[in-house]
Amino acid sequence: MIVLKTRREIELMREAGRISAEALKLAGQAVQPGITTAEIDKIAYDYIISQGAKPNFLNYNGFPATACISVNNEVIHGIPDNKHIIREGDIVSIDLGAVINGFHGDNAATFPCGKISPAAKRLCETTEEALYIGLSKCVAGNRLGDVGSAIQEHCAKRGYGIVRDFTGHGIGAHLHEDPSVPNYGKPGKGARLLPGMTVAIEPMINEGTQDVRILKNNWTVVTADGKLSAHFEHTVAITEGECIILTKC
Ligand code: MG
Repeated sequence: MIVLKTRREIELMREAGRISAEALKLAGQAVQPGITTAEIDKIAYDYIISQGAKPNFLNYNGFPATACISVNNEVIHGIPDNKHIIREGDIVSIDLGAVINGFHGDNAATFPCGKISPAAKRLCETTEEALYIGLSKCVAGNRLGDVGSAIQEHCAKRGYGIVRDFTGHGIGAHLHEDPSVPNYGKPGKGARLLPGMTVAIEPMINEGTQDVRILKNNWTVVTADGKLSAHFEHTVAITEGECIILTKC
């Protein structure tokens, strides 16, 4: 069931979104050669707590950290680890959120560590572009297929694999709500977007094929072919006009 939010509720979601966005920014700024993924996670945790909010990934289905930190061939759900040291040339996807006032925020971005390869840079740029192209379709009256197909088309024309096993999602009083928001689809198909819907749009794009597998820790999703993956996400509210990006600093 898709839960529409009132204006008042969307205003409350702005605070969760702002804290989520600030935490992501701080975590991203910490991406430097030599830092561990656990240290990055701690920065995000400390900031979210300092704002009187709670990290909403922590203990979600048993997830043990504030942020999912997924490096290079890791797609999503990487677990921060004090032995995982970030190196020059890595691409580091950080996905995190905060809950406050009963509402959730959720956002992600892939950050370069120092100088990255042209191929990695192109993948990250294309994925971020795909997010904003998807957001441009997030207008009341459009359908989910309009959003997904726009993301898919932008990435497929560069030869990238669009992850299908995981999707964006509704968000609000719960971190994950209906509808699920695939990063692929057909224009004009799927549920209609309505004012008051709040959704997390999150393309997960692979340098190679769309295929992924899950590591033995039962969390970390990696590319099946070992190639790179990138991930960008915003939480937005649907209106009659341009969507409101809630995860903004
Ligand atoms: Mg999400």
